[in-house]
Order: sequence, then C-alpha cells, then structure tokens
Amino acid sequence: MERVRQHRFDLQAFLPLSRGEAAEQGIEEFDIVLVSGDAYVDHPLFCTALIGRVLQDRGFSVGIIAQPDWRSNDDFMKLGAPRLFFGVTSGNADSMVNAYTARRMRRRKDVYSPGGIPLRPDRATIVYAERIHAMYPEIPVVIGGIEASLRRFAQYDYWEDRVRQSILADAPADLLVFGMGERQVVEIASRLEKGADIPDMQDIPGLAWKMSISTWRNLHREKDWLEIPDYRAVAADPKSYARAFALHYQEQDPVRGRTVVQVHPKTVIVQNRPAKPLFTAELDHIYELPYTRNAHPSYRPPVPALESVQFSVVSHRGCFGGCSFCSLTHHQGRIIQSRSMESLVREVKSFTRRDDFKGVVQDVGGPTANMYLATCPRWETGGACHDRACSVSCPSLELSLQNQITLLRRLRSIPGVKQVFIGSGIRHDLVCADPSPYLEEICRHHVSGHLKVAPEHVTDAVTACMNKPGYKIFEEFRNRFADAVSRSGKKLYLLPYFMSGHPGCTIEDMVFLAEYMRDHHLYPEQVQDFTPTPMTASTTMYYTGLNPFTMEPVHVPKEREKRVQRALLHFRDRRNYHLVREGVLAVNRPDLIGREWKCLIPERPEREKAETEKSVRNKEAESLREKF
Ligand code: SF4
Repeated sequence: MERVRQHRFDLQAFLPLSRGEAAEQGIEEFDIVLVSGDAYVDHPLFCTALIGRVLQDRGFSVGIIAQPDWRSNDDFMKLGAPRLFFGVTSGNADSMVNAYTARRMRRRKDVYSPGGIPLRPDRATIVYAERIHAMYPEIPVVIGGIEASLRRFAQYDYWEDRVRQSILADAPADLLVFGMGERQVVEIASRLEKGADIPDMQDIPGLAWKMSISTWRNLHREKDWLEIPDYRAVAADPKSYARAFALHYQEQDPVRGRTVVQVHPKTVIVQNRPAKPLFTAELDHIYELPYTRNAHPSYRPPVPALESVQFSVVSHRGCFGGCSFCSLTHHQGRIIQSRSMESLVREVKSFTRRDDFKGVVQDVGGPTANMYLATCPRWETGGACHDRACSVSCPSLELSLQNQITLLRRLRSIPGVKQVFIGSGIRHDLVCADPSPYLEEICRHHVSGHLKVAPEHVTDAVTACMNKPGYKIFEEFRNRFADAVSRSGKKLYLLPYFMSGHPGCTIEDMVFLAEYMRDHHLYPEQVQDFTPTPMTASTTMYYTGLNPFTMEPVHVPKEREKRVQRALLHFRDRRNYHLVREGVLAVNRPDLIGREWKCLIPERPEREKAETEKSVRNKEAESLREKF
C-alpha cells in the first residue's frame, strides 16, 4: 500500500504522460501537448521538461507524448487535441546526428531512451508533425528544439549528401521556434489564449514562419529584410551556399540582427531576429522550477543520458568561442547569460535534501564552463560586434574567473556536498589570459584524474579553419597546467580532445599531430572524427570547399582520406595499421615505420607478426617431431 501511495505521489510530481495522470492532477483538457523524440526526463537539461515546466509555471496545462510510435495514430491520440497547440521536437539532439556515426553507420544506442533502446524515427520532427497534422488539421503545430532550430534555412544534409529545404518547408508546421525557446513558447501560448491566430505571431523574435511567394514579391521592396540566396541557388551552386551561410550567420544577434528571408520553391521562409537572452532573474527562476530530476516513473530501465547529469547545474548560457564546427552561435548565441550565485547555491542545497544525492555535484557549467559571468558593455545595447569575434584580444571583453572561484568555493562549502566537479569543457585561451589562480583552484578541488580541454589540433592552418586558439596557446596552457598540478600535489593528467577530418586538415597535418601526441604522451582514448552536422561553418566548408567568411578554397578530406586521418589519430590501434601506413607513406615519411622510438607503427602489423611467430614455432615443432 505504501509503495502504491508513493507511486501516486511520484506521478503527480511529473507532467502527465496520460489522461489518467492528468485526471489525478485535475486536468480535463490540455492547453498544450508536447511531442518529443526523447523519453520524458524531468530535468532542466532536457528540453521537453524545461519548456513544459516553463509553460506550466505560466498557468498552462501541459501534457507530454514521449517517443510515440510514429507508425500508427494510437500514441498521438493518447492525450487528445490540445486547446492551443502541439509543440513538436526531435528532443535534445538532431535525430540524424543522434542515430548515425560520422561514417553514416546506424548507432545501436540512444542515450535519451530508456535502456538506450532507439525509439525515434529519422527526421523525427517532420515525421511527428506530419502525423499530427493529418490527425488534427485544425490545431496549430509549432516545431522547436535543436533539430528544427538548426535546419531553419536550406541546409546541407550529410546523410543524404544534398542540400535539403528548410525544415519548415518540409514539415506541415505553422511556426518554428529557434534558439532557446522559453520566451517564444510563452508568447505564442499567451497570444493564442487571447484569441490571436497564427498570422498574428509573425513579429515574435526567435520565430521562423512561412509566407507565400506572391506576398513576398509584393512586400520585398517595402521591407528592410535581408534576402539570402534562395533554395534553388544554394542547392545548385556551392558559392551561393557559402554566401548564404555567411549572411545569415552575421544576423544571429538579438539586438542588431535583421529579419532574414530565403525563398523556397513553394514557400518563403522568414526568420525573425533571435529572441532576447533571458535576464539573470528569469534564468534563476526557470532553473529553480520544481523538476524532480528523475525519469518518469513509468520507465523501467534507466535513461542513460540522465546518469551523468542528474546532479549538474547550469550556470550560464551562450558561448562567444565561435568554433567553426559548433552550431551554438546559431542556437544559444554569443552573448553570455549567467545565473546568480545565490540561485546556484539554492539549487545545490536542494540536492542535499534528497536521499539519492551522494554529495557529488557532477558539473557546474554551460557550453563552456569558464565563461560564467563573462560580459561586454556592448552586448545589451548594441549586440555582439558583427565585424569581429569576441575573444581575449578584445579589450572590452570582461572575464570573471575570480568570481567563478568564489562560486565554486561557496558550492563546495555547502553541508552535504563532498565534491563539486567541472564536467563541461573549459576554454584554455581564457585561462591563459586571466591572472587569477583559476587553474590551480580547479586542479585542487574540481577535477578528478583528467582535465579535459579541446585544442582540437596543433597546426595553425587547421586551428584557423576551426576558429580555435593555435598551437602556442595550447603549449602555454600545458605549461600552466603542469605548474598548477605540481603546486596542487595531486596526480592529474591533461585529456586533450583532437579532431581528424576537419576541412583544412591534410594528411600531413594529421601526421604532425600524431607525432605531437607521441612526443607529449597525449594519446587520446576517444577518436573525434569530424561530422558535418547541420548549419555550422565547418559543414559549409565541407560541402562547398570554401571558407564562407573569406570565400577562399579549403582542402576537404573525404572518403578514404578521411579514414586515413581518423586512423592517424589512433595510430596505436592495431586495426588501423594499414591506414596509418598508407598515410605516412602518402606524405613520404617511411621513417615513421619501424622499430625506432619515433616510429608510429612497426614494420609489419602486429597480428601478422604474431601469426608469423606462431607459424615459425609450428614449423620448429614439426621439424622436431620429424627428427624424433
Ligand atoms: S566589443 Fe569585443 S567582446 Fe564586445 S561584442 Fe565586440 S568583439 Fe565581442
């Protein structure tokens, strides 16, 4: 009996997944139904829970259809038609990035699913929207989340090796929410509640919407909107694609960004200026909503993605790093929005009241951990500069590593907290530019075993294409790290992430990197092979062979060369022997094959060597038998 009561209580703490759960919470009809490709994990790092809780906090009733079976109508009927709209998302990840490897092989595991069992379709946003629209043609469909956000313009799709239309042209959806969507969904729900229609939403920042081609032809002279090369042009001509990317990239600013228009064969996609970042008090509020930080009790096996973040806290959003292979500029933007220390302390204190908290805060961070509280006086009134990147060389950028030290000290002094880790990556160039003892502090208290950094490469031509700090800065950081470790008295190692196959990277660059790893004992455990994910500068380079910001040609490794580069990153793996050999011979470095200390691989592959030794032993045994 006690267990049943406990179960009921647990269910009431979650957003409802069924009409029965809704009835227990006194909900007869939903205002909004969210449909997601992820399992429902009630945690602020899971987008469906975050948006659901924000809407609930504003007084709307919200139900969730998690991982519906898209091959029939049944799951989509579970909660009935909502009064205001359906919100559709593929979940925390793009469904194609989530389902396939860089070599286009299907993954066996989906970390956002109970037991890791894949339960979402490819192109989940389109598939769900089609099913809902067919069943409830009169209810508005709003798509959002990372998949919709990063496919809002015509975009190169690596899995089909072609340029696809905007997802809004492919999906039968009314509106697309891009970026972090709290402001937009609340505004849409509030306006629909007051009787507005979908066309009344066209001025909401952070939305993309559709317009008929004839309307645009009549309007385009009046509007101060930026028209980028159309779908037909970008699908046929790489130069137009690169130009379109550079143009819409510059407009992703909530203060100075213009409305961007891209004509498609049957519709026109209009992207409004991004939504304004949330203020500190707003961020504090939404991260302190009553999340249970658990997967819904109806799931038996655990959801793997929750395990590593259950007791993590988000300290800020945004990243001004601008790494070419990262789409964050197009999603969260460059402007840093930080939470207050008081709010973060309250959140961690709330962990200590739970039975399942073992005293370990798994992460305090955001896209880049050490950008917490970084600021620039321009951001609020003028937006981020369009003609230069925010970096440590800009005198206006104010870092705040000393305040991060204060935050970390406060968190680890909370009774019941044994350890506070920094699991998010840190920008090593920010550490080098700041005089505070940040590195020593985190080495002493907030890292166990390995400190992860992401130089990604060590040749300047490649790091320039990646828009990452160069070799010298990584070397400076390595030296500082060595000093900090010796002062801390702990045994710590640097775990650098390197990437192969990025545009601009040649086999020669990878051989140089392999020798660098050999010389500095930095052999990586995991291999990062570049994957052209939607709407990044690197993907534009991969598809067009051009740097979109300079229009200069870029070398693009593909197919066999990409495999050779990947193998060079893991040159000690016996399975890579032949590819590594091919690589070092291609750049005329036979000196790297053999027995000397500097050699990356032996003369012969180890298994063949082992087989040869075995056959020699067999022959000797045979001749001995013959003798006796
Ligand atoms: S002044 Fe510097 S830090 Fe501020 S927005 Fe411009 S480039 Fe970024």
